[in-house]
Amino acid sequence: MTLTPSKYEVQLVYECPSCSIEHYATVDETRFPGGVLCYCGKKIKFKAIYGTKITLKTKEGEKKENVKKEVDNRLLEDIISALCNTGYKKSEAKKKAIEAINIYDNVEDCINYCFK
Ligand SMILES: [Zn+2]
Repeated sequence: MTLTPSKYEVQLVYECPSCSIEHYATVDETRFPGGVLCYCGKKIKFKAIYGTKITLKTKEGEKKENVKKEVDNRLLEDIISALCNTGYKKSEAKKKAIEAINIYDNVEDCINYCFK
């Protein structure tokens, strides 16, 4: 039996503007009027949040997103030219680049993937 989640919990992360320490809060906690005292002494108040919405992506959803990514031509071109510079043939580079782009969304990760 395959279940989908009946509810979810969200942790909100706030970064202290003076010391960059991260503070975690649940949605309920953002509505405490008192705020939080950071370790550095700064008093932080969270903007009250009254609800969150997440999208659960199933495998089908991922595929759709991949199609969108394939249209990201600039990223594709960047990876292809980087691969060509290291000796890949253009056709091979393109194949590899498309493969990588389906997994990663930035040049660095894609290129790392191609050299794995
Ligand atoms: Zn702080």
